[in-house]
Amino acid sequence: MTDQAQIKVARGSKPYLRIATEEGFCPPELLTAYRKLIEKNAVDDPAFNTMFRFYLDSPSARVRQINNGLVSVGEFRLKQMDDAGIDKAILSLTSPGVQVMEKDDAVAFAAYANDWLFSEMKSAPDRFYGLTAIAPQDPAAAAKEIERGHHMGLRGVIINSHTKGEYLDDKKFWDIFAAAEALGTPIYLHPQTPPKDMSRPFLERGLDGAIFGFAVETSLHMLRIIIAGVFDRFPKLTMVIGHLGEAIPFWLYRLDYMHRAGVVSQRYESMKPLKRTISEYMKENVYITNSGVAWEPGIKFCQQVLGVDRVLYAMDYPYQYEPGEVAKLDEMDMSDADKKKFFQTNAEKVFRV
Ligand code: MN
Repeated sequence: MTDQAQIKVARGSKPYLRIATEEGFCPPELLTAYRKLIEKNAVDDPAFNTMFRFYLDSPSARVRQINNGLVSVGEFRLKQMDDAGIDKAILSLTSPGVQVMEKDDAVAFAAYANDWLFSEMKSAPDRFYGLTAIAPQDPAAAAKEIERGHHMGLRGVIINSHTKGEYLDDKKFWDIFAAAEALGTPIYLHPQTPPKDMSRPFLERGLDGAIFGFAVETSLHMLRIIIAGVFDRFPKLTMVIGHLGEAIPFWLYRLDYMHRAGVVSQRYESMKPLKRTISEYMKENVYITNSGVAWEPGIKFCQQVLGVDRVLYAMDYPYQYEPGEVAKLDEMDMSDADKKKFFQTNAEKVFRV
């Protein structure tokens, strides 16, 4: 750890709350389920198998911290939130959640995870909030689970990107968007490792995970959703993506230019005219968080490109637990009013905290 990471920041030391919006958890049984899937060689996904062979058994201090953090929605996590100056956390089922399981197992485990989270959050109801996990493998059941989670008091939906190499822009999944839009509840599109057809060149150089592959795969997924016309069909739908928008903000100029060129030239049957530009969907339907990117230039660039109302704070606990990160971000060259939006009020609005 750096000296920076040793600094402890008191909650209540600034004129805003700090709400962390992409914080992972899992019931202990999820790790057991992954172990069984790997032992049976049941998941045809080299990046998943590589990642969890490591995470389930590595004796490293980093992995112990992650596994202890994931299964705690209580004392252990609250102590770490206190030490890091985090007032509230929005919890979501860690990646890849149930999306590597067979359909019936996935539907049942998503419901179990939501019940487990709801029960565990009672340890600190003013500090823990949660998102509804679903199994996209069964879109009709997923839509029902979104409703059940919403009525339980969960504050959005978590989807860990692709499901066995399939993407939500396929119309067979659109009941999920319809349910979320009807309830006014946001969908958080969280990364997972690239699917089998995509992962080989990433795995060869150790780039499949959070270092890079996550962002490539999730930004691709978000762009597929936009370009398929999902927000034209569901104009009130809100989605959230992490890691400073998985780098999409940096690409917007070229995305708009080349999307327009592709539509005009009618090069692709799958690329139809849209009602708005890609930038406009990003500014009007999508919020981003800075999960895992505690970096002032990147945060300010995204605020400048998307607007200060669109960028939310997230730590990405327990994967990037850095107790000193909040102190560093408190010192950003930014007005207190904009810091309050970043740390507090944007999250209150998006997740009804
Ligand atoms: Mn995360």
